[in-house]
Amino acid sequence: MAIATTNPTTGEVIKTFTPLTSIEISSKIAIAHQVFQDYKSISLSQRAEWLHRAADILEADKHRLGAIATLEMGKTLKSAISEIEKCAVGCRYYAENAAKFLENVLVNTEASQSFVRYQPLGIILAVMPWNFPYWQVFRFAAPALMAGNMGLLKHASNVPQCAVAIAEIIEQAGFPAGAFQTLLIGAEQVEEILRDPRVKGATLTGSEAAGQSLASIAGHELKKTVLELGGSDPFIVLKSANIDLAVKTAVIARMINNGQSCIAAKRFIIESAIADEFETKLVEAFRQLKMGDPMLPDTDLGALATPQIRAEIHQQVQASIAQGARLLIGGLNNNKIDPKQAGNFYPPTILTDIPKTSPAYTEELFGPVACLFRVPDLDAAIILANDSNLGLGASAWTEEISECDRLVNELEAGSVFINAMVKSDCSLPFGGIKRSGYGRELSMLGMHEFLNIKTVWIK
Ligand code: NAP
Repeated sequence: MAIATTNPTTGEVIKTFTPLTSIEISSKIAIAHQVFQDYKSISLSQRAEWLHRAADILEADKHRLGAIATLEMGKTLKSAISEIEKCAVGCRYYAENAAKFLENVLVNTEASQSFVRYQPLGIILAVMPWNFPYWQVFRFAAPALMAGNMGLLKHASNVPQCAVAIAEIIEQAGFPAGAFQTLLIGAEQVEEILRDPRVKGATLTGSEAAGQSLASIAGHELKKTVLELGGSDPFIVLKSANIDLAVKTAVIARMINNGQSCIAAKRFIIESAIADEFETKLVEAFRQLKMGDPMLPDTDLGALATPQIRAEIHQQVQASIAQGARLLIGGLNNNKIDPKQAGNFYPPTILTDIPKTSPAYTEELFGPVACLFRVPDLDAAIILANDSNLGLGASAWTEEISECDRLVNELEAGSVFINAMVKSDCSLPFGGIKRSGYGRELSMLGMHEFLNIKTVWIK
């Protein structure tokens, strides 16, 4: 994929970038390696001051930064601005909590003194996706820099201006030049970085294929990885739930980021007793959504990030219909949108009667398409929710405590949200099980992923 800014709303190529050469990559790694030697002994209070300053810059510049994201990947400007605000919250969270997370942990043993000490590993490579082009990076960068690690960012090829802006913010905040660098490179150049002995670990957020490729190279090099991959999150609504609130939240949870979020609700599993009411209200709510220019404040749904994503979701929907799924609203053909038109628009869509073998059942749908299933009871809801290779998040709606306990215990996911949509929160770990990946981001646990957890025994 060429490294370029292409406006998803118009199809216009705004700016292209030349990828770094191997020599340039190596010299950037050398800078990071050099900076690390001093940076690891810089005080936590100094690092925290810089991170607070990064938060100040993000807050002060959120409109300009948000507009870059909207231009490059099509999310609505209002959601881009709130993403920047969330990055500032993330920076402040780690600035304020890192000292606590990195404190020695004393343990009573036969030793005169024994404890656990947390130390940075060095250079960590972050391979990141375009869908939350700032948040995905800051949730890696803030804990990494606070812990004393160096960051190298290989961002998605369609958000180069966001990638450049992030490195600028971190440097402007006061961090030493080289502590966090953006590398404008293609996916095929990741391998040489992973194989460089100065690079100590890698985190990737993206597709299963990218995760497999990165993890197999890192495995060969015996380097630690964290993988945040896809999700096909269930959104279960049981008969005791507040249906109006569940419908309202379902729309937000499915349409967030124009439907392109790993933790978007994708499979709506509704208890039969309330399924007619839920379906009618969801269809009506989808009908009300306004698709259009993401820069305008009243737009709910912008264009998808690339023509490939739109082509893929169109193909998944069509193949599912061919196998027997039924369209309740939306679909490209029904909306008379020319699939060859410049902007990558795809309308709010709901499928039901979905066969088990169809893409809508077995694959992640990365766009504004909801899959609606009816189940007789809680048992069937849990079986259906767990019938997926993916296990990122799960949302469930019930007022019954006993149902709540079973959902929390039995849903196979990295997180379970009851009577709320799945979201990331700095103070809670974020990650998946099954083919959604491994390892955790955020909270203390996310910070500890790329540290030497050193056992110390003194007699
Ligand atoms: P993608 O193609 O895997 O791209 C993600 C990143 O990986 C990009 O920087 C990409 O670079 C790079 N990449 C692609 N192939 C690679 C390879 N073989 N080796 C090394 N790097 C490679 O992902 P996407 O399809 O754009 O993103 C959507 C996916 O990400 C969805 O499945 C979504 O659920 C998942 N996601 C997960 C989370 C989470 O936290 N679990 C969050 C957001 C998104 P190029 O752009 O240069 O190809």
